[in-house]
Amino acid sequence: MPLLSRRLLGAALGFGSILPVLNASPIINKRQFSAADTIEVDVCIVGGGSTGTYSAVRLSQDLGKTVVVVEKSDILGGHTNTYIDPVTGSPIDYGVQAFHNFTVVTDYFGRFDIPLTPVSETSPYTTEYVDFSVGRLLANQTQADPTAALIKFAEQALQYTYLPAGYDLPNPVPADLLLPFGEFVTKYGIQDAVPIILEFAHGVGDFLASPTLYIFQNFGIPQLESIESGSFLTTAGHDNSVLYQKATALLGSSVLYGSTLVHAERNDNGTQYITVQTPSGLKLIKAKQLLMTIPPILENLTPFDLTAQEYSVFSQWEYTYYFTGIIRDGVPANISVVNTAVTQPFNVPVSPYVVHFTYSGIADLHTFFTVSTTPQTLAQAEALINSDLALMQQSGLIPSCEPTNIVAINNHTPIQLRVPADAIANGFYADLYALQGLHGTFWTGAAWAPDDSSLLWEFTETILPLLVKALG
Ligand SMILES: Cc1cc2nc3c(=O)[nH]c(=O)nc-3n(C[C@H](O)[C@H](O)[C@H](O)COP(=O)(O)OP(=O)(O)OC[C@H]3O[C@@H](n4cnc5c(N)ncnc54)[C@H](O)[C@@H]3O)c2cc1C
Repeated sequence: MPLLSRRLLGAALGFGSILPVLNASPIINKRQFSAADTIEVDVCIVGGGSTGTYSAVRLSQDLGKTVVVVEKSDILGGHTNTYIDPVTGSPIDYGVQAFHNFTVVTDYFGRFDIPLTPVSETSPYTTEYVDFSVGRLLANQTQADPTAALIKFAEQALQYTYLPAGYDLPNPVPADLLLPFGEFVTKYGIQDAVPIILEFAHGVGDFLASPTLYIFQNFGIPQLESIESGSFLTTAGHDNSVLYQKATALLGSSVLYGSTLVHAERNDNGTQYITVQTPSGLKLIKAKQLLMTIPPILENLTPFDLTAQEYSVFSQWEYTYYFTGIIRDGVPANISVVNTAVTQPFNVPVSPYVVHFTYSGIADLHTFFTVSTTPQTLAQAEALINSDLALMQQSGLIPSCEPTNIVAINNHTPIQLRVPADAIANGFYADLYALQGLHGTFWTGAAWAPDDSSLLWEFTETILPLLVKALG
């Protein structure tokens, strides 16, 4: 039967149906697996990033459950990237930087004896505001004081106290949350706060067109409180990867690295069969329940027997293409440059763009982030970085020093899974949350709650009891 007809049939049979609608995975004969190639556990966790690692530690160490983690890369940690400068030996975090001072955070780092320290609020380095598209310094280098605008923004954020916990939205969804953020800025006169909000929320891609909901999910009450109280935390050694190195040692052979799903046969009877391609061949995981922590985009779910209900939700995602990395040379030490688009509304750069080159404080190394709302390859991200730096050098803004060397670059795509305002208004998140626990599958991760590790660990804490209960 053609795929589309199967989807329609699946929909017609009702959302409770487990009829496969997107099943491009091969037929697997479970009997082909020897005992040595079969892993039997309580929970199969897919993805060993922020929430997958957290879940594996909590389930195996505190909740007495057996787990296996299927992780496609060679390390745990997801968006956590740390570069060790071979010249000075100093670490630079160029992915995940900071955490909130929440119990869930201090307990997690505490169990691994990793000391935390407040993030320094002031930078000793100079910041220049530059239009990267023309390589020109902003005429007026003085940024407006954002305090009054931030207070107005905070007053609005405080109306939505449920947002830090996730997307359990009221019905109808408040109109302001659906407003394109550019209109929200004008409505509440918070122009002066745009640069700081953009710093936290640029990942949403088309920042000014984004529904305001997603801006609050990146820069809402928890972020405002952590800034106000100066309580953002980072590892005292400024090496956030240590968390995942210690988790790696703790979880041992419970993690299948370099591994991806081939096929998943899910059942409502508490037995899930997951076939995984690992570096040592195909393995069959027999788990009571699945915990999915990877971005639930269709591309990642091809091995699944998705139901019509799941397909109709997961086929709606939009997301951002995003790279982070480090350059050596290109921008002088002690100077950070922030992309500030003089010809654009509120000076917000247009996709694709480099957000900034921020001085790392170490040798001649700067970190960068790139944002694109359309597909972007690693080569295209590198070309963008090089052309922005070349423009700044040609205009004499920065001295033509040594040729730039991109010493580290990581692809974080897809980030910031989101849907348009009309889908939010039409109950997308109620439909998403209705999938929780169906067909032996629980879900956590950045698509389900604010894209912030501390908040996601709190969200995961609300899912683990449901999962444990389902294990029986
Ligand atoms: C550059 C950057 C900086 C950030 N800085 C901060 C910060 O300072 N503080 C903060 O709190 N949050 C920060 N965040 C957000 C934070 O990293 C995310 O909210 C968090 O990582 C999301 O956790 P997750 O478990 O959903 O996904 P991830 O951490 O992305 O984990 C997903 C894991 O699944 C694996 N995977 C993906 N697809 C598959 C597949 N098909 N099969 C098997 N495995 C797969 C990935 O390799 C990854 O390890 C940052 C994000 C980015 C991109």
